[in-house]
Amino acid sequence: MTGTLLVCAPSGREATHLRQAPAAPAVARTGVGPLASARAAASPRVRHADALAVVGIGAGVAAGLAPGDVVVASEVRPPHGAALPCSSAPLLAHALRRQGLPVHVGPVASVTHVVTNRDRRALAATGVLAADMESVWLLRPAQAGARAVVRVVADPAGEPLLRPGTLAHVRRALATLPELAPALTAWGAAAGPHRVLLAGPRSFCAGVVRAIEVVDRALDQRGAPVYVRKQIVHNSHVVRRLQERGAVFVDELDEVPAGATVIFSAHGVAPQVRAQANRRGLQVIDATCPLVAKVHAEVRRFADGGDTVILIGHHGHEEAVGTMGERPGATVLVQDRDEAERVQVPDPTRVSYLVQTTLAADEVSGIVQVLARRFPHLQAPPSEDICYATTNRQLALRAVTGQAQLVLVVGSANSSNSQRLVETARRCGVPAHLIDDVGGLDLGWLAGVATVGLTAGASAPQELVDEVVTAIGGLGPLQVHEARLVEENVHFNVPKEVRTS
Ligand code: SF4
Repeated sequence: MTGTLLVCAPSGREATHLRQAPAAPAVARTGVGPLASARAAASPRVRHADALAVVGIGAGVAAGLAPGDVVVASEVRPPHGAALPCSSAPLLAHALRRQGLPVHVGPVASVTHVVTNRDRRALAATGVLAADMESVWLLRPAQAGARAVVRVVADPAGEPLLRPGTLAHVRRALATLPELAPALTAWGAAAGPHRVLLAGPRSFCAGVVRAIEVVDRALDQRGAPVYVRKQIVHNSHVVRRLQERGAVFVDELDEVPAGATVIFSAHGVAPQVRAQANRRGLQVIDATCPLVAKVHAEVRRFADGGDTVILIGHHGHEEAVGTMGERPGATVLVQDRDEAERVQVPDPTRVSYLVQTTLAADEVSGIVQVLARRFPHLQAPPSEDICYATTNRQLALRAVTGQAQLVLVVGSANSSNSQRLVETARRCGVPAHLIDDVGGLDLGWLAGVATVGLTAGASAPQELVDEVVTAIGGLGPLQVHEARLVEENVHFNVPKEVRTS
């Protein structure tokens, strides 16, 4: 499925430097300036390449770009008319960064003449990072399904074009060109037609929607800062957005000023934390997911009835810590079958088990089997503890995994349900990776892959999934199919402290 990759180098010197790389990709010298580029674009070699990359040195436009910095175009802007998107830019940029290069992603302007400092200021005001005189004329007529522009800054903005240091800057930029070769080769190997199978449902669950809404409403109603104990949900993008709005995330309550507003995260807290908040006079808003709160209530009920409660969960996860905190003397954590074989309880006839809401159902059933063998009187929770969102996302992913050569799960590394999705796909024998966003997608994973299964953990925003789809679409013709297993219509009301009348 991999197509032909052609690297277009405008000048002879650029072509020579690019060819110096060991295992350099195919490089064509296409000529300097719009006219030469338009002529080269008519040649069958350029016209029919499946993946076309214009690579060379360029003029820095944005302030702060240094000689040798690498600019990967998110789009190429012609002097007139619509910009050409280069949607796979985040993937190429990731590969270049992994090689240790200083990489910037943003618009590149194709211009008809050498840009003066005044031109550059005008272009910079529109968000352009760098300028060249070839890319749009080479790429626009081509049929390539994948296109990229990479420019190494030779003359930074704000400096006169001809000055004593100019030649040194140009030499430095040229010397960087061979270093681009491995990433360009990986990009070419990943280029081609792709089919993306979206698992549905994916992304936000009702508990996450509610928790985020609680913080947004608290900020709207009470103003910044609003304190949040722990990450409100386990997603770095969500946390960053709320931080930008004025949310302050703390690990413990002693970091919160007396009398301030503090929000408890969706994962729940132990009663000791509530007591500490009371003692400190904090204004508490509890964003604990109602389904986590249900497990807390079950711990209290079983333990107060005389049982030892075995919580199947992950050591140190905030939900497990909060749940065990309900009755610490009567609760014991079991993480896997080995621990289930070894766990000791005071009275083997008085044992019940509960489950962290975000675990994988097939993993839990093996642990429960061990416990049931060892404790024949084992009491199960009154209803399933693994929540509907966790179960639905795992089942939906399994439905697409059978057809996929690769599975991508969008979610942060500390998201338990996202990690379980990765494990679910791997248990089905398919390579699977967790990515925080499109910037984590490794081109090497896509080499030779035509069908990608894609999902997102319950705390990961859908926009991040959309960005992954767009980037894969920048590698060639794209088909997107959604396999929606079930419609979710669960909704949780926000707590009374942030309701509007
Ligand atoms: S994953 Fe389940 S338990 Fe966790 S916040 Fe979402 S709905 Fe609630």
